[in-house]
Amino acid sequence: MSYQLIDGKGIAAKIRLELKEEVDYLIQQGITPGLVVILVGNHPASESYVKGKIKASAEVGIDSQLIRLPAEITETELLARIVALNEDPSVDGILVQLPLPDHIDADRVIQTIDPKKDVDGFTPINMGNLVIGQEAFIPCTPAGIMELFKRYEIDVAGKHAVVIGRSNIVGKPISLLLQQANATVTMCHSRTRDLLKFTQQADIIIAAVGREHMLTSDYIKPGAVVIDVGINRNAEGKLVGDVKFDEVAPLTKAITPVPKGVGPMTIAMLMANTVLAAKRR
Ligand code: NDP
Repeated sequence: MSYQLIDGKGIAAKIRLELKEEVDYLIQQGITPGLVVILVGNHPASESYVKGKIKASAEVGIDSQLIRLPAEITETELLARIVALNEDPSVDGILVQLPLPDHIDADRVIQTIDPKKDVDGFTPINMGNLVIGQEAFIPCTPAGIMELFKRYEIDVAGKHAVVIGRSNIVGKPISLLLQQANATVTMCHSRTRDLLKFTQQADIIIAAVGREHMLTSDYIKPGAVVIDVGINRNAEGKLVGDVKFDEVAPLTKAITPVPKGVGPMTIAMLMANTVLAAKRR
């Protein structure tokens, strides 16, 4: 069966171009969107994510700043930095790259970010507004997935979507967005009994687990749309998803690859949220 390869990388590049036009216009109006990325310590994956965010900002015309802080920084010092950024009118978006060192309470850090500058959409205010369907910054990865559905004209209404993973940054928000788009959503997680029983009924599968190649062909109903959020490093050091792409792809209607699928969309939506914050300035 022929399937459609969902080109997240290409769509993300297109979105960055569209955003650049918006940013050019904002700059003409005297507003340069500003994004501050805070990196505590030097977690290798975080280094690479942060680099991608800074590079994309430059491309779109967002004035970005990377604040590197030592892993030993105290929570009080980190919170003080965030409070100062909350008060800085040139800063539209504040992003604290996760994970944080163990001695820092990540929830407290996130809750200190001004919800109006919370371009990751992780604060309780934005999360709460998402739950009740009010205007909110939508977390970037789920927003990117919904954007892929839109651009590929994949109608989710009435479809059975099975979300595997229930994290605050992916699983929970994507299940809400799918539900708001009129999908029927089943949420699965590590305590789900007989995962296969659910995924085999799914028209849409969102895999957000973080386990290399856990979804094999027997999990898939032929003709399903499969979105692979997982980013795992295999034994050879290559990035691979949660889905065993080679055997699953031929069964699907459409599927995202890893890399070049959801990852670039996450960054593109961060750019979109920052531009939105600047517009609301
Ligand atoms: P978390 O570790 O926070 O959540 C993983 C979820 O998977 C949990 O809900 C867990 O269940 C569930 N899970 C674990 N094992 C199983 C299993 N055997 N069967 C079913 N469910 C299981 O991860 P994140 O949501 O932060 O990230 C998930 C993956 O997506 C990771 O690989 C991450 O790197 C990647 N990611 C990719 C992004 C991108 O831009 N492409 C952005 C963000 C994340 P339980 O709740 O019961 O523990």
